[in-house]
Amino acid sequence: MIETAPLEIKDIKFSAKAQAYLSSPRQMLINGQWIPSLSGQTFPVFNPANGQEIAQIASGDKEDIDAAVQAARKVFDDERGPWRRMIPSERGKLIWKIGDLILENAEELAELESIDNGKPISVAKVADIPLAADLFHYMAGWVTKMEGRTIPISVAYAPGAEFHAYTLREPVGVVGQIIPWNFPLLMAAWKLGPALATGNTIVLKPAEQTPLTALRLGELLIEAGLPDGVVNIVPGYGETAGAALAAHDKVDKVAFTGSTEVGKMIVKASTGNLKKLTLELGGKSPNIVFADVQDIDAAIQGAANAIFFNHGQCCCAGSRLMVEEAIFDQVVEGVGELAKRIKLGAGTDAETEMGPLVSEEQLNRVSGYLESGQADGACAVAGGRRLGNAGYFVQPTVFSQVKPDMKIVREEIFGPVVVAEPFKDSAQLISSANDNDYGLAAAVWTRDVSKAHRTARQLRAGTVWINCYNVFDAALPFGGYKQSGWGREMGQEVLNNYTETKAVCIGL
Ligand code: NAP
Ligand code: MG
Repeated sequence: MIETAPLEIKDIKFSAKAQAYLSSPRQMLINGQWIPSLSGQTFPVFNPANGQEIAQIASGDKEDIDAAVQAARKVFDDERGPWRRMIPSERGKLIWKIGDLILENAEELAELESIDNGKPISVAKVADIPLAADLFHYMAGWVTKMEGRTIPISVAYAPGAEFHAYTLREPVGVVGQIIPWNFPLLMAAWKLGPALATGNTIVLKPAEQTPLTALRLGELLIEAGLPDGVVNIVPGYGETAGAALAAHDKVDKVAFTGSTEVGKMIVKASTGNLKKLTLELGGKSPNIVFADVQDIDAAIQGAANAIFFNHGQCCCAGSRLMVEEAIFDQVVEGVGELAKRIKLGAGTDAETEMGPLVSEEQLNRVSGYLESGQADGACAVAGGRRLGNAGYFVQPTVFSQVKPDMKIVREEIFGPVVVAEPFKDSAQLISSANDNDYGLAAAVWTRDVSKAHRTARQLRAGTVWINCYNVFDAALPFGGYKQSGWGREMGQEVLNNYTETKAVCIGL
């Protein structure tokens, strides 16, 4: 068992609006209607700052997923219906309006996100909510630009024959979307935005820990004027609702974000009808600081943000800090000092800089890694303990004196825990940076432009940040190499994952 240090949590207060939203069981959205689950079952969600129940949510299971898929299927297959016949400019305006409604309700959404997930409300206000709105605004613009190509073909075996050939970009069909708890509203936006922009219909399953903002977003989708059945939202557990969605043979595609372990289960479940898949999975991202860094303080601050943002519960967290020997001690000490200064508390407290982990399960998982690091002989330069007994808090932790085969070095912790490793030269650096099953993100801090570009090329990762970290934009594709996933989210790139290309060839 790891030690526990005291933590005083100030009063946790919810606004009247949030209390009203939480006071009755939240239902599921199927075919434009808010309904209880067919079994009548609900499940509880908890406030991670004190472990107390805050709401009951309709618990979707196989039969609810089936009803939602039927609704999505009917809308998609109705080629004369309001969704399939909606002209692109109208669909674009509708998606833009969803972004506007998110901004109009930003305060409420930020509070619900903070209550549900534990993240500081200040962070939800400047990051999660505006980024979610921006994603819809960005995707709205693509609707009128989903163009095919005209292709000059030769057909050498038919001399003299003439053809006119072109491609159409068509929606994949009914899409199942399964999302995690770390950025609940933003992950819903990353999934829904491109799927709607390309004309698909959707069944969305939010994470059991954090269903609140996805359900509130469902109300905003209706307010925006989305036709019934285009987006269906079924909260429930992964093993029941999630598994049923992944296996459903009337679902054409599944887009999943979460653990690599569950990602592999989704792959197996998809084989029944060979549905298309995109997967955004785990990471163990190297954040590399060269001794020639322009501004060492900026690199230290950047390294702290890379791991401690969102309590380390980011798939792209900079969880391996790799520092050139000459400045290793200075950087590690600097990050350790910043870790010690972070103010922990309930997310709803305006002064909080880091909230609790999302759940008791996650607390146990991260505590297990703190224990294993200490047992394996790593040194906690900062942190290493649980905080308080009620909520799910752990100290921001920096481990040094680590070895390449330690669990804390190899596995994704998904908490505010960074391992620091020194490196001698570029060759050693690249082989150890790439020596991991994941390949989601990486960062390089140096003033040498050619070294920066060369290292970016050598790293096997879907994103490489140079002299920055955690820079996200709706226009920039994001996704993983190796076991970090299949396909890309955001940017123009994501549209490929939600469309089929049809080749049409006309004999003239
Ligand atoms: P997870 O189990 O992979 O959950 C992600 C989503 O998949 C949730 O909606 C979950 O539902 C659902 N799910 C679970 N089992 C399923 C199944 N058999 N079939 C279909 N869907 C299923 O992740 P977690 O339990 O929340 O966290 C475990 C670890 O996942 C973390 O510690 C971290 O390593 C990783 N993770 C990665 C990301 C990322 O952004 N890449 C995000 C979150 C977690 P329920 O939540 O209802 O069970
Ligand atoms: Mg689960």
